[in-house]
Amino acid sequence: MRKKNTVLLLGIFAILILIAAQVIIIRGVWKQQDQTIFFKYRDLSQQAVATLRGQKINAFDTVYYILGKYSEKVVKELPEVRDTIKMKDKKEEILNYFSKVLNREQDLSPYLSLYFEKEMGFKMNFKPRIEISNLEIIGRDTFKIFQNDFFRNPRSFTPGAGRQYALSSRISILASRQHLEADYYALNFDYYIDFSDKKKLILKEMSASLGMSLFSIVLIVIMFIITFRNLMEEKRLSNLKTDFINNMTHELKTPLATITVAGKTLEMEKIRQDESKVLETARLIGKQSVHLNQMINMMLEISMWERTEFQLDRKKVNIEEIMKDIVGSFKTGAGNLASLSQKYNLNGATADIDMVYFTTMINNLLSNAVKYSDKQTEISVESFTEDNNICIRVADNGIGISKNDQKHVFDKFYRASSGNIHKYKGLGLGLYYVKQIAVAHGGDVAVDSKPGKGSIFTVTIPY
Ligand code: ADP
Repeated sequence: MRKKNTVLLLGIFAILILIAAQVIIIRGVWKQQDQTIFFKYRDLSQQAVATLRGQKINAFDTVYYILGKYSEKVVKELPEVRDTIKMKDKKEEILNYFSKVLNREQDLSPYLSLYFEKEMGFKMNFKPRIEISNLEIIGRDTFKIFQNDFFRNPRSFTPGAGRQYALSSRISILASRQHLEADYYALNFDYYIDFSDKKKLILKEMSASLGMSLFSIVLIVIMFIITFRNLMEEKRLSNLKTDFINNMTHELKTPLATITVAGKTLEMEKIRQDESKVLETARLIGKQSVHLNQMINMMLEISMWERTEFQLDRKKVNIEEIMKDIVGSFKTGAGNLASLSQKYNLNGATADIDMVYFTTMINNLLSNAVKYSDKQTEISVESFTEDNNICIRVADNGIGISKNDQKHVFDKFYRASSGNIHKYKGLGLGLYYVKQIAVAHGGDVAVDSKPGKGSIFTVTIPY
C-alpha cells in the first residue's frame, strides 16, 4: 500500500514538474514573441510617421485648424471667468475639447493602418489613443491648461513609469510625439496605439509549439495512468496468486489427511476384522480421492485454457430437460439440506451446448449457493427466454457479495475478502470457470447481490 502511494505521489510530482517546466518555457516564448511584435510595430509606426514628415504631410491639419478657431474663442471668453472654481471647470472643459478633437479628427490612424497592412501583408487591428502632455492657451499672457510630470521635471522621468510616457510599455506603443503650435495655443501630445489583437497574433505564431507541448503533457499523463494501472493489476494478481497457493495447499491437505488417517485405520487389526468398517474406510478413501482428482483436473484444465482455445463438444439440447436433470442430481447430492425451487418458462427452447461444461457451470453456481450460506439455504432456479437468449438464474439467500467484490468474483483466483474467508473453503476458481464456460458458449454471466440478503447469478446463452 505504501509502495503504491509512493509511486502515485512520485508520478504526480513528476507530471507537475513537467507541466511547470512547460509553462515556464511557454511563458518565455510568449514574452519573446510579445517583445518582437512590440518592437516590430514600434519601428513600423515610427517609420510611417517619418515617411509622412518626409512627404511634408501633416496628419493633424484639420485638428490644427479646428483647435485654432476654438482657442481664439476661448481666449476671448477667458477674462470673464474669474473665480477659481469656475476656472477649474473651464480648464477641464478646454482639455476635454482638445482631447476629443485630437482623437476624432486625425488622419494618422487610417494612414498607419494602411502602412502596417502594406508592410506586414495582413490587417492588424489597433486602437489609437492620443494623450496630451502639455497644453497652453496663449492670450495676453500664457495660460497653462495642463502639464504632466514629464514637462515639469523631465530629468526625473523614468520610461515606463508613467501611463502617458510608457515608452517601453508592452501594452501601448508610442508611435509618435507631436507638437502643434498656433496663434492661441501650444500643444504637445503623444500618439499611442493599443493592439487588441496582439494576443491572437502571438497565439497564432505559437500554435505549433503550444499544441505540441499540450500534446506531450497529455501523452505523458496517459502513459503514467496506464503504467500505474498495470502496476496495480500486477500487484493484485500477485496477491491473488499467493492467496490461491495458500488456499490450494489447504484444500489439498484436507482430503490427503483424511486418506492418510484412513490408511492408518486400515492397518489396525481390530478394524480389518470388521468388514463393514473396512468398506466404510475404503469408501471414504475413494470419495476423497475423487475429490482430489476433481480439484487437480480443474486446475489442469484452467492452465490448459491459457495456452489453447478451449474446445466445446456442442450438441443441441433441450435446456429445461438438462436443467431439471442437473438440479435433480444436485438435490440428492450436495444440496440435500437446501430447499430448492425451480421455475421454467422456456417453451421447449434448445441450445447448442457442451453438456459436460454446462453441467459443471450450473453445479458451480448451485454449490456456491449452498457454500456461502449462513442459515437454512433457499435456492431458486429460474430459466426463461429473453430476446435471443436463454437466461438461467440461480438465486440464494446466503451471505451476499459486497459491491466491490462483485466486480472481481469472476476473476481467476479471486475470493471475496470480506468476512472470515477460512470459514468457506475454496480456490477462487469456481466462478472464473462459470464465466469462461458461458463466454465460450457465446454468452455471459452477471451477478447481482446485497450483502446479508443473498445473491443472484444470471447466465445468458444464445439459442
Ligand atoms: P471459491 O468459492 O472457490 O472461493 P468462486 O470463484 O466460486 O471461488 O467464488 C469467488 C468468490 O465469490 C467466493 O470467494 C465468494 O466470496 C463469492 N461467492 C461466490 N458465490 C457466492 C454466493 N452464492 N454467495 C456469496 N458469495 C459468493
